[in-house]
Amino acid sequence: MKLIMVGVPGAGKGTQADMLSKHFNVEHIATGHVLRQEIKNDTAIGKKIKAMMDGGHLVPDEIVTELAFQRIEKSAERGYILDGFPRTIQQAEELNKKAPDITAVLQIKVPDEVIVARMSGRRSCPVCGESFHLDSNKPKVDGICDLCGAALVQREDDKPETVLNRLKVYYDNTLPLIQYYEEKGLLSVIDGQGEVDEVFKRVLHALG
Ligand code: AMP
Repeated sequence: MKLIMVGVPGAGKGTQADMLSKHFNVEHIATGHVLRQEIKNDTAIGKKIKAMMDGGHLVPDEIVTELAFQRIEKSAERGYILDGFPRTIQQAEELNKKAPDITAVLQIKVPDEVIVARMSGRRSCPVCGESFHLDSNKPKVDGICDLCGAALVQREDDKPETVLNRLKVYYDNTLPLIQYYEEKGLLSVIDGQGEVDEVFKRVLHALG
């Protein structure tokens, strides 16, 4: 199984990808997480991309494509769910050459007005990348990651002013992917509103 998740930032791609990866025992490849690890480890790439990511801008295609492909190669046999990649037509075309056997593309759809509210409640683990939410997905202990015990933070790019920019970046760069994958006959659209488990049922239904 090789899936692609698309949707505005905050639509719930990461949560659903995580649930799918456990359900089907496939790899969850989240390029946002991979890039944040580069920043955390203070690598040459990390230094180059920090300001772009903090401002909610896209990282250059060449950088993200190379990092994504390293993971894709490792998981080619087991299968994977791509969360946050591709985000531009150029990335999609590169991916199409690398992995012409994508099973399906799931678009998780949530209206913009719901997104800003959702994102402001999101808290993330700076160590393992797990996401929580102050209303809908609280950690067991306030402010602490359930998985690794680290103190949760609000990502710089989840702050309201940056969220609006990320939505614009999505509409300018990523929205064309919807038509791209529709024309390939790969697209399923899923209503991303409601409880996480309800959305997951819809996702499983769409996958048949
Ligand atoms: P995410 O965690 O998926 O919301 O991604 C966080 C940030 O990482 C984005 O706002 C971009 O700056 C960067 N990023 C993640 N994936 C990509 C991608 N496929 N292309 C370009 N930038 C990306």
